Amino acid sequence: MKNLRDWIAWAEGKKVAIGHFNISDSEGFKAVVEASKNLGVPVIIGVSEGEREFIGLEEAVALVKTARANNLPIFINADHTYSVEKAKMAIDAGVDSIVIDAASKPFEENVKMTKEVVKYAKTKGPTLVEGELGFIGQSSKVLDAIPKGVSKTDPKDAEEFVHQTGVDLFAPSVGNIHGMVKTGEPKLDIEKIRKIREAVRVPLVLHGASGNTDEEILAAIDAGIRIIHINTELRLAYKEGVKEGLKSGEVAPYKFLAEGVEEMKKVVLNKLKLFNAK
Ligand SMILES: [Zn+2]
Repeated sequence: MKNLRDWIAWAEGKKVAIGHFNISDSEGFKAVVEASKNLGVPVIIGVSEGEREFIGLEEAVALVKTARANNLPIFINADHTYSVEKAKMAIDAGVDSIVIDAASKPFEENVKMTKEVVKYAKTKGPTLVEGELGFIGQSSKVLDAIPKGVSKTDPKDAEEFVHQTGVDLFAPSVGNIHGMVKTGEPKLDIEKIRKIREAVRVPLVLHGASGNTDEEILAAIDAGIRIIHINTELRLAYKEGVKEGLKSGEVAPYKFLAEGVEEMKKVVLNKLKLFNAK
C-alpha cells in the first residue's frame, strides 16, 4: 500500500494537490473520511498542537491507522509544531508527517530546529518533515486586515533553507495567510510559487488557503503546490451546522452534531474536487 511519500509523488505526476484538513474531534474526522471515500482521493488529516491536545495525539493516529487498515488513503500530519520536543513526541506517536514551525524565529535558529527534527525523523522511519520560511500569521479566524509581520519568502533563502535542513516538504509564504481576511486579500503570488519550486526542488505546501479563489488555487497547483491546508472554512461550516442542529431541540449528540458533519463534508468535497480537478 502507498505511503504518504508515494501519494505526494502521485500528485506530482498528475499535477494535482492533496487536501489537508484540520480536525479536533471525531466529527471532523468523519466528515473528511467520508468525503475522501466519496471521491476516491487521498487526504491528510491535520492536527495542530491545540487540536491534538483536545482529540489526543495517539487517539488521532489510531483513527487514521484504522482507516488505513481498511485500505483508505488517509494520512495524519502533526501541523504547526513549535518545539523540537513536541515534534519528537509526534514522530514517536507515528504521524505520517510533521510541520516544524520556527518561521517566526531568525533564519539560523529556524534551520537549527528544523534540522534537528529531520535528523530525529530519519532515525524513526517514514515520517516526512515539513519546514516553513516566511511568516503568514497564526490565526484561524476571520480577520479585518492582513496580520502584522507577514512577509513573502525569497526563493534564494528558500533554496538555502531546504538545502541546509534536508526537509521533505516546504511551506512558503506566497500571499497566503492563516485565517481569512474579509477583503479576500492578499492574492497568491503564482510567479513566486513557481520560482520557489524551481529553487527548492521539493514539493510545496500551501497553508492558509481558506478564502483564496478557485482560480488562484488552480494556478498555485499548476505552479507546484502539492498539499493544500484548509482549516478556517471548515471551522465556520462546523459551527453553522451545529447551530442548525441545535435548533431542533435534539439532545442526542450524534443527531445535533450530524448537521455539523454534513456542512464540513460539503466544504471538504468542494475543495477535494478543486484540488483534484486534473
Ligand atoms: Zn498552517
